Amino acid sequence: MKNKSKNIGIYIHIPFCVSKCYYCDFNSYVDKQELIPSYFNVLEHEISYYSGKLQGYSVDSIFIGGGTPSSVDSFHIARVMECCHGSFNIDEKAEISIESNPGTLTCEKLSLYRGIGINRLSIGLQAWQNKHLKQLGRSHFREDFVENMELAGKAGFENINVDLIFAVPGQIMDDWIQTIAGVVELKPSHISCYSLKIEEGTVFGDMLEKGAINPADDELDRKMYWFAIDNLKWQGFEHYEISNFAKPGSRCAHNLKYWHAQEYLGLGAGAHSYLNGVRFENEYLPEKYIEAVQAKGCAAGNMREIGKKETMNEYMMLGIRLIEGIKSDSFRHRFGEDMFAVYEEEIDRLQKKGLIEAKAGSISLTAVGLDFANQVFMEFV
Ligand code: SF4
Repeated sequence: MKNKSKNIGIYIHIPFCVSKCYYCDFNSYVDKQELIPSYFNVLEHEISYYSGKLQGYSVDSIFIGGGTPSSVDSFHIARVMECCHGSFNIDEKAEISIESNPGTLTCEKLSLYRGIGINRLSIGLQAWQNKHLKQLGRSHFREDFVENMELAGKAGFENINVDLIFAVPGQIMDDWIQTIAGVVELKPSHISCYSLKIEEGTVFGDMLEKGAINPADDELDRKMYWFAIDNLKWQGFEHYEISNFAKPGSRCAHNLKYWHAQEYLGLGAGAHSYLNGVRFENEYLPEKYIEAVQAKGCAAGNMREIGKKETMNEYMMLGIRLIEGIKSDSFRHRFGEDMFAVYEEEIDRLQKKGLIEAKAGSISLTAVGLDFANQVFMEFV
């Protein structure tokens, strides 16, 4: 009989997209579609490889992310799920999410997703105005999103996340207000709001270097962030992580695992794992990933055993992202030590700067800390 005492989340990376967004630095490709059949074949091998290694675990969350998993034939997703069920002990109440983009969802696809146990849908809208979608290099219009939200509701999805980006070059406050209002009206249970980061090696990165775009100024960026916080709270969403908002009972169980520094297994190209105190990551390029799994059954490398202090640092750095903060009881339960003693200096410095507050046996970000969260993370690195 399997030991079900330990829970684990599984992340499955599908690195294929319809087009490359101008801000995207994720492990995703538009010109590798010919790899799709072999990619899914080896994904099954990789799942089988980890079957024995996860014998003592109960899988309570699966996140199929990308890339755009909804852009591939749903037959592949069904095979992956079937293989997971054959290989892992999946909790019957597990949260099973898939990422999607507007325009890639149909009635048939959504019904199939429901049929294979997927119970959470994440849709990347990013902006409400078609001019901003075009400017971001997105492959869809707002109308596709509205239609896909309706289809998802009809297919029985009750737990739907919408991803949004703010501080897009040229975006004004009214655009952002309209984005939030338009999305909320369609009744998602979860909304993620990220400030646009322009990374090197992306189309936007190149444009920035040539002076062809003007990033939004910091003041507007923060104004948009705080509008999202205030407005979404007013509309009944709980602000539970720096960038995440959920209706009661709809927090993302899979992402909560990352923020609580719990164990997860990453499958697919470039996926990261944290298992038995060891962090490791898969070959990044899909071709290399396929070769590695064909040769040895897995594509894991860069194994790093994480010692106790490093695990504590990660626990602090990730946990402080949560609005409820970090409870000293939970810290003691996990590490057998007093958080306020281990991090006395760091907590003191951050409190003096007004970035965190300590109360009732826990620490959490202040309003200022939410705006300067990177400074808080650095203290725990
Ligand atoms: S859909 Fe997502 S993963 Fe694909 S290119 Fe756009 S941002 Fe990147």
